[in-house]
Amino acid sequence: MDRNFECFLGCDAEYKDASIVLFGAPYDSTTSYRPGARFGPHAIRSESFGIETYSIYQDKDLTDLKIFDAGDIELPFGDAARPLEMIEEMTKTIIDDGKMPFMFGGEHLVTLGAVRAFAKKYPDLCVIHLDAHSDMRDDYLGVKLSHACVLRRCWDILGDGRIFQFGIRSGDRSEIEFSDKHIYSEHFKIESVPIIAKQIKKSPVYLTVDLDVLDPSVFPGTGTPEAGGITYPQLMSGLKAMTGMNIVGMDIVELAPMLDPTGISTATACKIVREMCLLFGKK
Ligand code: MN
Ligand code: MN
Repeated sequence: MDRNFECFLGCDAEYKDASIVLFGAPYDSTTSYRPGARFGPHAIRSESFGIETYSIYQDKDLTDLKIFDAGDIELPFGDAARPLEMIEEMTKTIIDDGKMPFMFGGEHLVTLGAVRAFAKKYPDLCVIHLDAHSDMRDDYLGVKLSHACVLRRCWDILGDGRIFQFGIRSGDRSEIEFSDKHIYSEHFKIESVPIIAKQIKKSPVYLTVDLDVLDPSVFPGTGTPEAGGITYPQLMSGLKAMTGMNIVGMDIVELAPMLDPTGISTATACKIVREMCLLFGKK
């Protein structure tokens, strides 16, 4: 008889053998509009059984890789500092063991914990950021640790020329002006990924995918839907264009499964997880 346990589809390797380590960061305390992203990681695991381990797009299978699913970190709500420390510690443990972390949010602030760990290991770290929202506010209603400020906090660590955003179609004037001066930001589309990929080919890259970069007609299950987004095939071709890069860690964030009772958003997130593992995971 087998023990009942739930991990992402086909990701049942032992930790010691794994090249990719999945973990959930079920946190949404700073969500500015509709909460619910704390339920993202659990929904992704349980709905993953609705898709195949095999990708017809890549002719690769999740079972060809060694992937360990560490489950969710038990994060305290109502505070931002401690959850970020815990995410940083988790990320550090995984990268110190020579494995690639793949975090499931949670709201977008969780990315900061991972980027802190990576920036300590790789002083030349770059961040590739797919999102509808700029997330470059210096503060949100006086609060510095918010999902609306997460890339600005990354900039505080990394500085100019190290953040590359795609798909951006929302922000206040000050953050867009700040972005123009300090980072690379492609508005509305993600077509310039191949150019940037060539430009920063040698740098270690942390990839953060805010799933609301997709159009809400494709991905309604998110806290701050923003019309005018990219399609699923456009997202996939952008991710595919990153395959020659040195991606050292990654996340997907902002799935709020209860906001999409059809389940399409969660199913889409599962498919994106599979494709990202197969694109960026090493055997
Ligand atoms: Mn975001
Ligand atoms: Mn967003």
